[in-house]
Amino acid sequence: MERLFPAVIGDKIWYSKKITSKQESGWIMAFVDREVRRLLGKGIHHYGLIENGDRIAVAVSGGKDSMLLLWLLRERLARIPIRYELVAVHVDPGFDTESADRMEEFFTREGFCYEILRTDYGVRAHGPENRESPCFLCARLRRSALFRKARELGCRKIALGHNQDDMIETFFINICYGAQVAAMVPRQEFFGGEITVIRPLALVPERNILRMGANLGLPVLQANCPSSDKNKRAEIRTLMETLFRKNPKVRGNIYRAMSNVNLEYLPPPLPVRGSGGGVPPLPSRPAGFAGGAEETSPRVGGAKAK
Ligand code: SF4
Repeated sequence: MERLFPAVIGDKIWYSKKITSKQESGWIMAFVDREVRRLLGKGIHHYGLIENGDRIAVAVSGGKDSMLLLWLLRERLARIPIRYELVAVHVDPGFDTESADRMEEFFTREGFCYEILRTDYGVRAHGPENRESPCFLCARLRRSALFRKARELGCRKIALGHNQDDMIETFFINICYGAQVAAMVPRQEFFGGEITVIRPLALVPERNILRMGANLGLPVLQANCPSSDKNKRAEIRTLMETLFRKNPKVRGNIYRAMSNVNLEYLPPPLPVRGSGGGVPPLPSRPAGFAGGAEETSPRVGGAKAK
């Protein structure tokens, strides 16, 4: 009987005939690209993220997720019957001068409509006057700037590059450091529906994004922020990776569990200490968790800047 060889791609295990390593890498590349496009389309369709005539500000930090998101949203226009406009918006946190220049060069070379906001938010967030976590302040300032710019550009939707792993990490950050069950949502309205935040990569695992970005040769800005690998997200990511390595189905199961909550099997709220009863208030915001109720800085679920 012919022997089949297993390959783990995303959260699926596929079997194929024995092939050379060159054939294998070509086969995997083609598969990954197809799978990312399929999951992007599925997310957009299932969550109702994009409609005909939309004008969308795509937040492009220069990381692998947002670069691929911008690329795929434009590429998709050639295959679908609806029309929408894209404006890439890069909010530079100000750690160096070259990053924003490189983004400008990329947008110009590839013919994207774009806006670059040069700020000092990242530097200010690490300054002595900031008593919050650097990520909290930096993400809040960048988000406010992004919302202001989207309004100015007449974009009623803002696309963020959060992927499936980001959503799962946020879920665990909130449980471990915020004592609440919450994550990010693929579609969220703000200011009474004036602006809608969408996350078209919500169903796409991070490693497929990495692979496809590399297949396409998309440039990626190196993280030059001193907090990029020191926040709570990095901690949770390491834990998650251990789980995902042991069983590739865990990622999909956690994602599905987020919308399959059985409240009957969750304990009722504990009473507030010293108040004689009632629902306890949430603890103060954990480090690396985005918040902010002010009108121009809506909470969008996590401090990871995209
Ligand atoms: S890791 Fe990201 S959000 Fe945190 S301070 Fe650095 S640039 Fe800002």
